[in-house]
Amino acid sequence: MRSEILQLTEKIIFQVNERMQISRQIGKIKNELNMEVADEKVEQDIRKSILKLSKQIGMDTKFCGRLLNTLLTESVRLQQNQNSPELSPQTHLGIFMKAKQLEAAGKKIIHMEVGEPDYPPPKSVKKALITAYDNGHYHYTETKGIPKLCQAIAKKVGNSITEDQVIVTLGGRFAVFSAFASLLKPGDEVISIEPAWPAYKECAEFIGAKTNILKTTLEQRWNPDIKNLQDMINGTTKMIIINYPNNPTGKILGEKNLEEIVALARENDLFLLSDEVYSHYAFSHFKSIAEYNYEKSIVVSSFSKSYAMTGFRVGYGIANKSIIAKMVKFQATALTCVAEPMQYSALAALEANSNSIQNKRIMKRRLDLICKRLRNMSFTFVEPDGAMYVYPRLKKGVDSDISLVEKLLDLGIALAPGSGFGESYRGFIRISACQPAYLLEKGLDVLELAVS
Ligand code: PLP
Repeated sequence: MRSEILQLTEKIIFQVNERMQISRQIGKIKNELNMEVADEKVEQDIRKSILKLSKQIGMDTKFCGRLLNTLLTESVRLQQNQNSPELSPQTHLGIFMKAKQLEAAGKKIIHMEVGEPDYPPPKSVKKALITAYDNGHYHYTETKGIPKLCQAIAKKVGNSITEDQVIVTLGGRFAVFSAFASLLKPGDEVISIEPAWPAYKECAEFIGAKTNILKTTLEQRWNPDIKNLQDMINGTTKMIIINYPNNPTGKILGEKNLEEIVALARENDLFLLSDEVYSHYAFSHFKSIAEYNYEKSIVVSSFSKSYAMTGFRVGYGIANKSIIAKMVKFQATALTCVAEPMQYSALAALEANSNSIQNKRIMKRRLDLICKRLRNMSFTFVEPDGAMYVYPRLKKGVDSDISLVEKLLDLGIALAPGSGFGESYRGFIRISACQPAYLLEKGLDVLELAVS
């Protein structure tokens, strides 16, 4: 029997290899035809057929689904590698790095690509940093964060959230990664609504989970189709990710849609991760997932955007005690705790709440300015309900997002290509409002010239 197992395993490996070779060939064709690599419809058809087969032969469908997701993820990876580097989507961070290199070589760049506020953190944060040293607050702390900060976050979030439902993380990014790493297994599936912050896909893939994409369109005003979302849920789906106010579109989802998503998560026993790092920049009514009292929800937030503290690297997660315990275990393994002086600085920022209100006003004025200019240039876009960005569609006849962004970088303006937020959005760019108005005007002058 042992030799039989060995032979069968060898056979499986041969066949997997054969599958990969065919996948590479498909990748080549897609590349030649300039087609998108991931095809949800094809994946859905394979999934239906394989899960049916697993049922017929009495195999554990969950395990079968995870195995299938591993194969599908590998196919997408192989096919993406077929693309030439110039065609592969560049993210806003990629452009930011390029812009930094140009600056180091002496070129002046206006940064309209990254989501990093240009204004400083509250003054009280400076004081807190200095007193942290004087008070000896430079040690390891509780992995989940110092109690005072956890209490202050719980109080701020409200909705009867208690201190033990909070974990302080290394920025919002690590809250996302830590939630994925502690709640998902390789082959599990997460549903992400695109266009989306690329980190969801990157973090999921890093731990071997598969991202299933629900696309939204400008025509639908970036509203997700709930029926499609329902159809995408299958035996391996473990989590739905939402992000409102959204990066890059600035959309805030209506309450009805939000309720439907919570209901779907509840019915299918799924985790619901709600990234709310832009909630301080909501210009219309925003409802946090924390208000729904759903036991499998995880709210992610951060001090980076609201208090302009990107470099402090402090964020947090809100979830039930058992989820927090898992995230704490993972965080202990990965990084012990968030730096103590930074936690005290975040505490000071929370106490200086007025700054975030002022920051919201600044951001709204700038976004209005960008929208006005884009309207005059006849761009099509949905005015943002929140966050720090506008996501316009390029006019017909304009080069692809990447070539336009590269051309603009040569002219001293850094913008984010739309495809960094999803393969289907090559016809878009993201403009960030994280610069003073006079620089935004200058940048938009150059954009106007370039596209005219
Ligand atoms: N979530 C979204 C949607 C973002 O756009 C960002 C940063 O750009 C983050 C989370 C993470 O921010 P940080 O790790 O600085 O808290």
